[in-house]
Order: sequence, then structure tokens, then C-alpha cells
Amino acid sequence: MTTNRTTTERTDSRPQTAEARPRLPVLDLPSAISVADLADLMGIDPVDVIKQLMRFGYMVSINEVVEFEVASGIAQSFGFPVKAPTPEEETSQGSVVLTHEGEDPENLVERPAVVTILGHVDHGKTTLLDSIRNTNVVAGESGGITQHIGAYQVRYNGTPITFLDTPGHEAFTAMRARGAQVTDIAILVVAADDGIMPQTEEAINHVKAAEVPIIVAVNKIDRPDADPDRVKRQLAERDLLVEDWGGDVISVPVSALKGEGIDDLLENIIVVSEIAELKANPDQLARGVVVEAQIDKSKGPVATVLVQTGTLKTAQNIVVNGLKGRVRAMLNDRGKRVKEAGPSMPVEILGIGGLPDAGDTFTITPDERAAREMVEEWERTQYVERRHGTLEDIAARIESGEVVDLDLIVKTDVQGSTEAVRSALERLNTDRTRVNIIHMATGAITENDVMLAAASDAVVIGFNAQPGAGANTLAAQEGVDVRYYDVIYHLVEDVERAVNGLLAPETRDITEGYATVRAVFNIGRRGRAAGVYVNNGRISRSSTIYVMRNNKKIHEGPIASLKHFRDDVRELTNGLEGGVVVEGFQDYQEGDILESHRIEEV
Ligand code: GDP
Repeated sequence: MTTNRTTTERTDSRPQTAEARPRLPVLDLPSAISVADLADLMGIDPVDVIKQLMRFGYMVSINEVVEFEVASGIAQSFGFPVKAPTPEEETSQGSVVLTHEGEDPENLVERPAVVTILGHVDHGKTTLLDSIRNTNVVAGESGGITQHIGAYQVRYNGTPITFLDTPGHEAFTAMRARGAQVTDIAILVVAADDGIMPQTEEAINHVKAAEVPIIVAVNKIDRPDADPDRVKRQLAERDLLVEDWGGDVISVPVSALKGEGIDDLLENIIVVSEIAELKANPDQLARGVVVEAQIDKSKGPVATVLVQTGTLKTAQNIVVNGLKGRVRAMLNDRGKRVKEAGPSMPVEILGIGGLPDAGDTFTITPDERAAREMVEEWERTQYVERRHGTLEDIAARIESGEVVDLDLIVKTDVQGSTEAVRSALERLNTDRTRVNIIHMATGAITENDVMLAAASDAVVIGFNAQPGAGANTLAAQEGVDVRYYDVIYHLVEDVERAVNGLLAPETRDITEGYATVRAVFNIGRRGRAAGVYVNNGRISRSSTIYVMRNNKKIHEGPIASLKHFRDDVRELTNGLEGGVVVEGFQDYQEGDILESHRIEEV
């Protein structure tokens, strides 16, 4: 059992519909197909197909194209066996569509929607969150939700809705990059007097990449210069066609400041969540996500968590990655002590033995021993390199037929190059593979771009674009491939070779030095370290280490820690002693040789 949600085989998740029907012909689906064509192939009314797509969390119109993975899930849900275009069906890409995959449908009950508010700065996200919170507290609780715990729940006409209180796509995508898709519905706030701005655009692309349904709140309609029609036109230009223009995107005019249109917005949230059929099984040990956490001077670590499945109870054993603890107390968003929290309910909990990160998943275990075992298991797997795939890796996966899409985030210096790069890249689509630009904008490569790439397994391409503050560091941490080009021809050539599965990495392996293991130390939770003496050359912090025993390589990995006495150092040179921890390896023996390598791209 792991704390991370896994993507299970889609075919197994809905056997009941597939088997209840007579045998239908096998569908030979291409890698991408329009909704209209898919409906036609199955002989099913396109409206029913669109409804089914919505249930699976996809808001698409009849002419939009869906990928094989989606089309196949839909076809199977109608009982059609499906033939894949490639031998292996892709499982690792994209977000988890159904949060209750693998659950017996009999145990599932409806759960409240979890909503995130996104949009450009100053368009009214915070005001909207406050307005919803203040106008919808239960009578008798005047003063309302005074606690800020990172999420809150309101009831509208008896239906609870959960709002994440960290507006903006940064938090949204950061969580997704950690493997947690918390949001069921995204509210895109666009100020009617300002229209779509760069962060609105970014938010749209982040939400689209997450495949979460969008409701547009056209805000500030009280302002004399409000122009809702312009907003709708701008949305249409970005493939978001609102309902009153014949599309399927719900848009609601609101004034967050005056509290106008809020009821309408909440009603629509309920409609969309009903279509999405959000469900969870409350009768099991809880699992969920950390929304935020901090250390309180008197209480210790305090974490706001959102239960995704099961029911969380006080006194239970909890594990968050490498941390464990016991739920000592739980407070709801009104600061009241509660003993239980069911699906989609945010609560603040005390008792985790450390500070988790936002987006970490938590699991309740039946007892302390199981919690300890989970933590040990996590520590064993912890060293696995976090890597989201370079262009070369993706080329290899395309070549092996594992994926058909190359997802890119493209940043350029000026608007003029944006169009040139876009059209050059779109020309590279073949009937087998697709270059999918999930976000494109002008400006520096930002941490947001890197997070979106991490969350979507995409590659970031900069054309005459500079790295923004922190972007390269974050990319290295997250294992995201960021490439810079100043000649469009080189950019297109690399991407073309990637989509053709041809881009083999050309690297040169340089041995920098070696050291002998003279002692082995236990270093607590992090496992074991090797005490070494550098016989030759140098060991640098950025090296790749080959652990050699009897002249055989028994492990290869980057350095997790490099010390000279107690100090962290960047390198150890010939004749020095120090401590080395190699990622993913613990079983050092005296006499092992650590060879230091630098891999250089040619
Ligand atoms: P955020 O940056 O998106 O969270 O935006 P805020 O909620 O902080 O709002 C930015 C500014 O717009 C504040 O001065 C708000 O009072 C104002 N504002 C927000 N909603 C409305 C609205 O519906 N009408 C008007 N006139 N002003 C609004």
C-alpha cells in the first residue's frame, strides 16, 4: 500500500456496465478522435456521449477532439470493447479522472464538490471567497467562519460545497505536481472591466491541463465600465464557448463586492457537481490530502487536511509520507472540535509528528504498527529519483508506443515569435503522435511553468526566453526538462525528432575520481552513510556515483549528501576524508569503491 494515488487500469474500473450489455463490436480507436466521430462510431447520440464525458470530469463540446485514453474509457463505459492503437495503453500520463477508481460502486455515496477559485490578480478571487463564506454560514453561527484553515465548507440549499481558500493556480498546480488532484471544479474569476489578462490565460491552461471542469464567474459587473460580452468573446477565442453563445461553458455574472450573483454561482456549482457524480466511500479508513500546514508554538504541527475517501476520526494513526502520528484533535472550519470528518470535509488536525507539505497525501492506518511499516516503506522508496522525463525520455516512450502525445509548455520573448513557434510545432503532428502545447505565453520561464510541467509530465521550451527567478532550481528539483533555443530551426528539429521517437541522448561519461569506503554509519531516518577517503581526483556534489564492489557496479545514483566532518561541502578532493550518501543505496561495505562520474551532453 502506498500513500500515493495510483492510476489503475481504466478498463477495470467500470466492469459492471461493460458486462451488463450484449457483446458489441470492437472499436478500433485512433490516438485522437472528435466527440462527434466517437458518437458516430458507437451509434450513440452525441449528447449522451458528452454527458458521459462530463461524468468523467471532461467538459468538451461535440467538435472537440479527445485522446485515445479518454475515448476508450467512454467507449468501454458504453460496453464497447476497444482496440488500442498501440500495444500498451498509456497509464502514467494525465490526472486521475475518477477519484474513486477501484472502489465497489455499491459503497459509494455522493460527496461535496471541492472548488478552487482562480484568475488574474485583483480580479476578485479573495472577495468572492469572502462573499461566499459570509453569505452562506448556517444561521445561528453569526460571525461565521472565523478560522482560516485553508479550506471551508458552506451549505447552499442543504448541499455542502467545499472551497479551497488558497486561490490561484500556483497552489492548484503545486498540489497536482505532488500527485494530488484535489479540485473537482475550478471557478475562473474574470473582472468584467478588465477582461482576460495574462494570469487568466495561465489559469485557463493550468485548469485545462488538469482536465477539471470550469465555471466562469464574470466579476465586478457593478462597475460602470463592466463589459461582460468582451469577456465572453475573449473566452471564445480561447476555446471556452459560454452557454449563451451556444457552447458548454457555464458563465455567471457576479459582483463579489455586492454579493450579487453568488446564489446563481453556487447553484451552478451544484449542477456541475451533480453531473460529475462525485462519490466516495465513507465507510473505510480515511485517505486525503494536506491543504496547508504550519508549526504552532503551543500545539506543534497543525495541518489542514481534506478527506478524499473514508472517514477520519480522532485517535487514529495517520501517516503522511515519512511522518506518522496520532490524530490528537480535529477542528472544523468554524474552530469547533469534531470527532469525525467525512469525504470532502476540511479539518485542521493536531498530532502529525512533523511538518508535511501542501499536496502530500495522508493515510489512516489500522494501527501503529501499520503506520510504522508504511513510513519504513516510504523511506525505502524515497530515494527514487523524481523525474518527469526529458525530451529524450519522451521520445523513447513515443518510440515504444507508450505515449502518443508530446506535451509542451512554450515561452517566447515576443508575441510575434509565439505565433511562429506555434504554427511550426503544430505542423509536426502526425497521425500517430501529437505535439500538444498545454501552455504558451511570452515572458520568462517561471516557477509556475515548471510546476505545470511537473504536474503534466511536460517539457518546457524557451525560445529567446530567459529563466525567471528560481525556475532553473525548481526544474532541477522536480526533474523537469527545460530547454532554451534561440534558433527556431533547432527548436523545431529537436521536437520533430522527439515526436518521431528519434531523439537519442548523446552523452559522454567522464570519471572524475574515486574514493574508498572505510566505515559505514547509521544516520537515523535517512539510512546509512559511507565514510570515505578520496584516493584520486574529486567527488563533487553534482556527480553521479557508481558504487563498485569487486570491480562490479552494484549501484548508480546521484549524491544525496556530501560532508567533510560535519559540514556540507560541494566537493571532496584527493586526500580528504568525508561522508557520502548515495541516493537509493544503503548497503555500503568497507572496501567498496565510490566512483564519481560526470555525464556531459555532447
Ligand atoms: P484577488 O487579487 O483576485 O484576490 O482580488 P481581490 O479580491 O483582492 O479584489 C481586488 C480589488 O477588487 C479589491 O479592491 C476589491 O474590493 C475589488 N473587487 C472585488 N470584487 C469586486 C466587485 O465585484 N466589484 C467591484 N467594484 N470591486 C470588486
